[in-house]
Amino acid sequence: MTVATAQTAVRSLLAHPTGSVLGAEPGGTENAETYIRSGGYGEAVSPDRLLEAIDRAGLRGRGGAGFPAAVKLRSVRDGGGVPVVVANGEEGEPGSVKDRWLLRARPHLVLDGISRAAEITGAAQGYVYLSDPYAATRIRRALGEHPPRIPVEVVETAHTYVAGEETSVVRRINGGPALPAAKPPRPHERGVAGQPTLVANVETLARLALIAAHPDLGDTIATSTLLTLSSWRDAPLLVEAPYGVPLHDLAGAQGSADAYGALMGGLFGGLVGRDALALRLEPGALAGAGTSLGCGAIRFLAPGGCPVAVAHDAVDHLAAESARQCGVCVSGTAAINETLRRLATGTAGPDATGRLERWAGTLPGRGACGLLDAAAGTAGSLLRAFPEAVRDHLSAACAVCAGCPTTGGHRLVVPVPDVADLRPDPVP
Ligand code: SF4
Repeated sequence: MTVATAQTAVRSLLAHPTGSVLGAEPGGTENAETYIRSGGYGEAVSPDRLLEAIDRAGLRGRGGAGFPAAVKLRSVRDGGGVPVVVANGEEGEPGSVKDRWLLRARPHLVLDGISRAAEITGAAQGYVYLSDPYAATRIRRALGEHPPRIPVEVVETAHTYVAGEETSVVRRINGGPALPAAKPPRPHERGVAGQPTLVANVETLARLALIAAHPDLGDTIATSTLLTLSSWRDAPLLVEAPYGVPLHDLAGAQGSADAYGALMGGLFGGLVGRDALALRLEPGALAGAGTSLGCGAIRFLAPGGCPVAVAHDAVDHLAAESARQCGVCVSGTAAINETLRRLATGTAGPDATGRLERWAGTLPGRGACGLLDAAAGTAGSLLRAFPEAVRDHLSAACAVCAGCPTTGGHRLVVPVPDVADLRPDPVP
């Protein structure tokens, strides 16, 4: 299986580019002057009116869970104390690049989103939380170019799969390790410094800022999304697409029009077969088909690849990234990974599918975070979407799997698109 090392391309699939997150020049870092010219950093508006506009537009979080943004904002606003807003740019999914691209290319859009969220919640302190050093440099520079309405601090962390989980974010900002904590309390109840805390994905905040600047385009802004599309061949693609586009059109845009399935939502939406590619990009439609968009990363399965190898890659990555806090996660991810490894090498016993099926049914929900759910879900989805491939692997070794190195998580990693480090101020 070939490793996709080609540079990630960037493209918009939006018919009307006004109100887009990709912006007019996605290949370079936007400065404050350009951002203000596009309508950003406008006057403070009535918090209630802005919240109403977000609610009406139906904006949902873009970090993975897809929770309604207005509900989250209200629960932080009404939580008592002095709220805190955190822009979460720690992108743990190996197949996703959109958050790092956004922080590098449009830092002011994210910072404007923090200010807008602070207006709604009454927050007195903001944070940008990330691990990407290039993004950190550009955010710090942007803070110097246009100081925000509330103090905003940049907090860096080590890049891991679980560092962006919302309780990990709060623990790290509070001075602890970037590891998930037991819930409750959830951050909106007691988060940074014990205060109600909005931990919002950076794309969610960017869309919030766009709705504040273009309230008449609220629906369009809330129903478009950034996606990282990849496959084992051709260059990965960062796109902004409207909801409603069929998945096979997205496959075609990435160069995988003949894809026979996909790994959805980073490592969180599981594997789907060819039929599912007729689905339209829309959270409800995907949920109805037993999958999800998660963070917007989709890896297409193009001919020449093997779904068992992809499932093994995914779970291998998850097993290596387990925070090793919950016994059931340590043993569960290791057991699923070993069974998939044996399947991939043609050495699994006849009871392998029964074990995978049992784990897929019993393990979700038993860890402190979603990592174990992702591993169990990947195994279950492989059995559902590709039963023939699994059966074939029980009876003979697979040539594609045999060509894969034994640890494959790195094959799922997509490179962040180039974002030129433009001078922040135009020459007079
Ligand atoms: S479920 Fe796994 S990754 Fe998540 S906190 Fe527990 S041990 Fe860590």
